[in-house]
Amino acid sequence: MNWREHGACRFEDPELFFPLGDGVLSLRQTEQARAVCRRCPVLRECLAFALRNSEYDGVWGGMTAGERRARVRGRSEDRRR
Ligand code: SF4
Repeated sequence: MNWREHGACRFEDPELFFPLGDGVLSLRQTEQARAVCRRCPVLRECLAFALRNSEYDGVWGGMTAGERRARVRGRSEDRRR
């Protein structure tokens, strides 16, 4: 878990990564969180952690909860083929 010590978000308000609702403000907040993730040196580790631990809330590894669910679903479907 020491990858967290290197996350670009460590100096940000944690609430930035947990937008509420699905309105314009929430979308704007999500994009702000993604912008932080894009410059994060541990993006891959963060995303892998979120996928492995079924983190279904918030932005992790530059992906929203919905994007991560879709990715997991896609992998499951690939394995069935
Ligand atoms: S990828 Fe985003 S949420 Fe994950 S540690 Fe980096 S900045 Fe934080």
